This record gives sequence, structure tokens and C-alpha cells, in this order.
Amino acid sequence: MHWLPLYPLQDCRCGATAATREHYTTCSLLQHLLKNLLEAFGPITNLVSPQQPLDHILNRLPRSEVGLTLGKWQSTWPALLHVLREIDRLSHHADTYNYVEEPAPEEALQATTSISSPPNI
Ligand SMILES: [Zn+2]
Repeated sequence: MHWLPLYPLQDCRCGATAATREHYTTCSLLQHLLKNLLEAFGPITNLVSPQQPLDHILNRLPRSEVGLTLGKWQSTWPALLHVLREIDRLSHHADTYNYVEEPAPEEALQATTSISSPPNI
């Protein structure tokens, strides 16, 4: 699985035109979030081009939301959401970006597990 940017390719808010997947691995506006994600996930040693670290992490997502609450995923999952949301924001011009209120990435697991919990009877 590979993540894909918005198509047709859009200009990035950093000024890059028609920003590709490769652009977002080096975009100065995204580096701090990518660094946080890679620190949370840990070393990635077996990337095969054109796979990117983001692809690698997406391919290793746990199969259930319970898995997201365990081990390194407790910090990796919110960091991954931060990166994906920022790519979404960066690939939309400020005038056309339709901001949608979502739970903070750190709260996303809590929202997911509370939705899937059986009701108290
Ligand atoms: Zn950029």
C-alpha cells in the first residue's frame, strides 16, 4: 500500500508546484512531524524503492483498534495522524482548504474505542 497525495497534484504551501509523494518526504513544513513519527515508530531498515517510510508504517498498522492502544502504536498512531492531516492541509491552498473539526490525534484512539465499546445496560 502506498499513500497518495491529492490528484491532480496541487501546489504545496511551501511553494513547491504540483507536489508529489516525494516532495512530502523533504518538505520543510512537514519535517518536524515526520521526525516525530519516525521517532515514535522506530528504525526502518528494509525500505524498497519507491516505498517511503510513511508507506512502511501504513503497511504495519495493527488490524484492530485495540492494537493501536498497545506498545509503540500509542505514540505512532497520533504521530501518523498528525502527518497525514498536515499533508492534507499543505496540499490545499489556504483559500480552498475546507477545515473539518476532528478530534485531536491524541484523542482519536479514545474516540474510536468509546464508539466501539458495547453500551452499558
Ligand atoms: Zn512543501
